[in-house]
Amino acid sequence: MSSVINRRYLIKGVVQGVGFRPFVYRLASENNLKGWVLNDSKGVTVEVEGTKEQLNKFVKQIMQEKPSLSTINEISLLHEKIIKHGYINFSIKKSANADTREALVSPDTNVCHDCLRELFDDNNRRYKYPFINCTNCGPRYSIIFDIPYDRPYTTMRDFLMCKECKKEYEDILDRRFHAQPIACWDCGPKVELLNNQGKKIEDDDPVAVTIEKLKQGAIVAVKGLGGYHLVADPTNDEAVITLRKRKKRLAKPFAIMSETITEVRRYANVQPDEEKLLTSKERPIVLLKKKKNKRFSDNVAPVNDHFGVMLAYTPLHYLLLHNNFDALICTSGNLSDEAIIHRNETALKKLSKIADFFLIHNREIYTRLDDSIVRVTNLGNISETSLVRRARSYVPMPYKFIRGLPNGLALGSELKNTICLNRQQYFFMSQHIGDLKNLSTYESFKEIINLLKKLLQIEPQFIACDMHPVFYNTKYAYEQNELPVFPVQHHHAHMASCMFEHGFDSPAIGVIFDGVGYGLDGSLWGGEFLVGDYLNFTRKGYFHQFKLLGGDKAVEEPYRIAFELLYQIYSKNIYDLPVRFARATKEKLNILSKMSDTNINSPITSSVGRLFDAVSALLGVREIIEYEGQAAIELEQLSSGNDFFKLNYEINKKDKIWEVNFLPMLEDLIRYKRENQPTGKLGLSFHLTLSEIVVEMCNKIRSETQINEVMLSGGVFLNQILLKNCYLKLKANKFNVHTNNSIPINDGGISIGQSVIAGHRFLKGLRN
Ligand code: ZN
Ligand code: ZN
Ligand code: FE
Repeated sequence: MSSVINRRYLIKGVVQGVGFRPFVYRLASENNLKGWVLNDSKGVTVEVEGTKEQLNKFVKQIMQEKPSLSTINEISLLHEKIIKHGYINFSIKKSANADTREALVSPDTNVCHDCLRELFDDNNRRYKYPFINCTNCGPRYSIIFDIPYDRPYTTMRDFLMCKECKKEYEDILDRRFHAQPIACWDCGPKVELLNNQGKKIEDDDPVAVTIEKLKQGAIVAVKGLGGYHLVADPTNDEAVITLRKRKKRLAKPFAIMSETITEVRRYANVQPDEEKLLTSKERPIVLLKKKKNKRFSDNVAPVNDHFGVMLAYTPLHYLLLHNNFDALICTSGNLSDEAIIHRNETALKKLSKIADFFLIHNREIYTRLDDSIVRVTNLGNISETSLVRRARSYVPMPYKFIRGLPNGLALGSELKNTICLNRQQYFFMSQHIGDLKNLSTYESFKEIINLLKKLLQIEPQFIACDMHPVFYNTKYAYEQNELPVFPVQHHHAHMASCMFEHGFDSPAIGVIFDGVGYGLDGSLWGGEFLVGDYLNFTRKGYFHQFKLLGGDKAVEEPYRIAFELLYQIYSKNIYDLPVRFARATKEKLNILSKMSDTNINSPITSSVGRLFDAVSALLGVREIIEYEGQAAIELEQLSSGNDFFKLNYEINKKDKIWEVNFLPMLEDLIRYKRENQPTGKLGLSFHLTLSEIVVEMCNKIRSETQINEVMLSGGVFLNQILLKNCYLKLKANKFNVHTNNSIPINDGGISIGQSVIAGHRFLKGLRN
């Protein structure tokens, strides 16, 4: 008989607040092992006694059968002794505070099946209780302000548990054992319905009244998990139009929410990968192809062949939808580009002119989170999932790099901002924060840096930021005067984010197509062919540069870019072209030509994103935009069929760098437009020619560098036609092609790229 030994293990990862200790307890009891388990600031520590075989089996079972919400990053053996301690049972010890805090906070999670069953069971004491949750589900990251994850460190601290809840909370065999947000009708948070004056609507069932109001066409601000949604009935055209008018948002699609996949199938096509994402515990918004029926108002997602759809994820959502609506519009409760509103007072103040009613509650949201957005792109025989916006339910899960780096803080890009903190090889990217030019978003940016530093106990040794000198986050970086600052070039960061994700450690070719990013020469880059690693890069090629007449104004009014490009080609003959320059008068166009002649307020750029805008305007698809990317999105949707023209272009070497001259493509497009060729065919020709350019450039770079690995990154690659064609053609040319999946391909992924580049530079003792 083998002798009894005593072992102590430390388990790290998301192991707190996810039912890990009761799981270990049950497992130990089943195996008749003695000892104890406790939560501390590093994770979960287990001391256990048994034979070697028993203990090995026990650890294996921990790995294999761990609770659904947990993630194990590592299990380390702290000691092994032959002497047995002689425990008489297995127990759960009180949480201990250790000096370092490495326990990970779980993301917020959708309500689980067990809780849903109780929610709709009229014999259950939590029947229809909007805050039902358990150890396997409910709010986490959004309500915590310190660790360890215990009720006093969450916004649930204000609610005193009733006797019944306390019994469940303390019963190791209960499925609510140590569920920190545990609550019920007697002791937990409550919902209230208010009118837009903030006056309470007295009724025993505010949810039922809300449903009535929604059916009558009202717009209701509903407090959710990470913030407020503006909710309306998508079948009610008048309600949808009213919401658009009040939100001053005429075109950008509204997201919609359904209870189950069955309802979704009534109005959208759902592929297997998309279904998996929709029903995943993260419950992101998934972009789905619309069905050609008219279930909803055209104004839900006008001029768009996709719906952004998510499934219900809080009990309150289920209560609103269940047997009432196929779907509800659930768009972020905010004013234009401001941060999503998460506090009751702010909601009442800022949304009172948009919402008719407010369904609020008194469980405070500590940190705000937008809904995450995902899309699936079909690439021939495989499909790629890309996270367009990473926020609720994904954060704060870390990404693991191939090696440990010094701890740092990266501040991301200014638009679509995220920040990233790393502890050695674990990189914690924040939720989508937004456009820092907004005061509320900038406040949120600072709050999130402080919160993550505290929750993760990371003291950064350096700061990484964008090279753009006037970004708010760049300024913030230089204000933190104790730490060295590493400015990182924007497109290098995009490239590194893609290399990071695929565990790369050798030089690669980066094809980075983007809006604009500050270049090494001070011009705005955005159509770049780079070769580099995590330390450095060289610019091997770029798109012909052009002027943005009026700077940011040219981004809002793409016809200005079309005008400038055609003016370069046709000069004064531009007025005879078959192109409509929005509603601009001849005088206005004369001003533009003068701007171009004199270079007033006309920064130059190589941006492919802006080139898409120009082509969209040139083809008469979209001349003035309401939301970012609109011109390119509408051009992509129009571009279809199998019929296309091969457009002309030139690639020339200029000062040892390849320059793609796309002006001949535009001349061709004008010629075909004169022939009245269909716009969809011309749009497709533009996409396909771009992919030819990518392949030709990569071939040129490969013959100079022998590098075979290509990273496709930058927001322009959200364009599925472009991504698919570049991917397949590069593959056919025997390149290994990679693109971002779980790190956003747009500027939401910049912070992690900055982090990893600055970390390598810091390690090498390099500056800048
Ligand atoms: Zn549950
Ligand atoms: Zn209770
Ligand atoms: Fe970018």
